[in-house]
Amino acid sequence: MKTIPFSDLKMQNRALKSEILSLWGEILDSAAFVGGAHVQAFEEEFAHACSVEECVAVGSGTDALRFILLAMELNPGDEVITVPNTFIATTEAISQAGGKIVFVDIDPDTSNMDPSKLESAITSKTKGIVPVHLYGQPADMDPILAVAAKHNLWVVEDACQAHLAEYKGRKAGTMGVAGAFSFYTGKNLGACGEAGAVTTRDAKLAQKIRMIRDHGQSEKYYHELEGYNGRCDALQAAALRVKLKHLPEWTAARRRHAELYLELLQDVKGIVVPKTHPDCLNVFHLFVIHSKKRDLIRNGLEQEGITTGLHYPLPLHLQAAYDYMGLRPGAFPVAESRAKELLSLPMYAELEEAQIHRVVNCLRKIVETC
Ligand SMILES: *Cc1c(COP(=O)(O)O)cnc(C)c1O
Repeated sequence: MKTIPFSDLKMQNRALKSEILSLWGEILDSAAFVGGAHVQAFEEEFAHACSVEECVAVGSGTDALRFILLAMELNPGDEVITVPNTFIATTEAISQAGGKIVFVDIDPDTSNMDPSKLESAITSKTKGIVPVHLYGQPADMDPILAVAAKHNLWVVEDACQAHLAEYKGRKAGTMGVAGAFSFYTGKNLGACGEAGAVTTRDAKLAQKIRMIRDHGQSEKYYHELEGYNGRCDALQAAALRVKLKHLPEWTAARRRHAELYLELLQDVKGIVVPKTHPDCLNVFHLFVIHSKKRDLIRNGLEQEGITTGLHYPLPLHLQAAYDYMGLRPGAFPVAESRAKELLSLPMYAELEEAQIHRVVNCLRKIVETC
C-alpha cells in the first residue's frame, strides 16, 4: 500500500539540494553565520514579495510576534485581543510582552476572528488586536481595522500561515501596524531549521524591532534598551532565498490542489469543506474539513496509509497553561465545536492529482459505510 503523508518536505529539499549546498559551502568558508549579506538580501526579497517596505528577519515566527508586541510597549494590565483557535505562540507573545490575553470567538465558516464579537471584548484596558490568518486565509480585516480605528487600538497580524495570501488585493502582513511570518520547516515557505520575519510599512517600528532582535543595540556594544538574541542566521537566510523564488509556483500548486479537493468532495455527505471568503486569496497552508465523524475518518484514512492532522485539537482557553484564566467549556462555543470536528487533509505543493483522488475516494468510502 502506498502511503500519502500529511506533508512531504523531502521532495522540496531534494530538488533544491545542490543550490542550497553551494550557498552553504560559501557561508562555511566565510564563517559569516549570523546576519550578513544573505540575511539582508532575504529581507529585501521577502519585503518585495509581500509588497511592503520593511522586513526584519528573526529567529522564528514566535520571535516575530513577540518582538512586535514588545515594540508596542504594553503596561501591566493592558489587554490584547486574539482568537482561541490558534497556535500557542500567538498568546505566548502577548503574555511575554507583558500583556493580558483576551479571546474572542471565531466565524464558523472561515475559522477566523469574528469581527462582530470584537466590540464586546473591548475594555478601557484594551490596546491591540492580533487577528490570525488561519490555514492561509486572511481574517476579515476591514471590519477589524474599523473597530480598531474607532477605539484607537493597533492591529498586529499573525501571518505565520499566510505567506503571499491576500485580502481585497492587499497582502497579508501589510494591513496592520506589522505582520509576523514563520519559516518553520512545514510552513508554505520553510527554512531548514527555525526562522521568522516581521513585515511593516513603518520604518521607525522596523528599526526598533531590529534593535530588539539584537540585544537592544543601536551600534555594537551600545544598548538603547534590553533586547533579545533573536537574529536570523545566514544558513537559513540563504536557504530561504533559494526557496522564495519557488513560493509563487508552490502557492499556485496548493491552490490547484484545494480546487480539486473541493470539486471531488462536493457530493460527499457528512463533511463540511473549507470556505474561502470571496475577498480573499487563500494560500491553503492547510486544507481543513469538518465532520461529526472526524475521528472515524481520521482512523479510517490512517489505516489506508493516509496521514491527517488536527489544527488544533484543543482551543487555547481550555489548555492547562491557561487554567489561571478560569475559562470553562462553553466560553467560546464556535471555536470549541470546530475543534471537535476539524481535520487537516494532506496538503503540500508536490502532492499529485492521483493522490488527491485517492484521499477523497477513501474518505467517501469511510463516510458512506459508517
Ligand atoms: C507556526 C506558527 C507560529 C509560530 O511560528 P514559529 O516559527 O514556529 O515560532 C505562530 N502562529 C501561528 C498561527 C503559526 O502557525
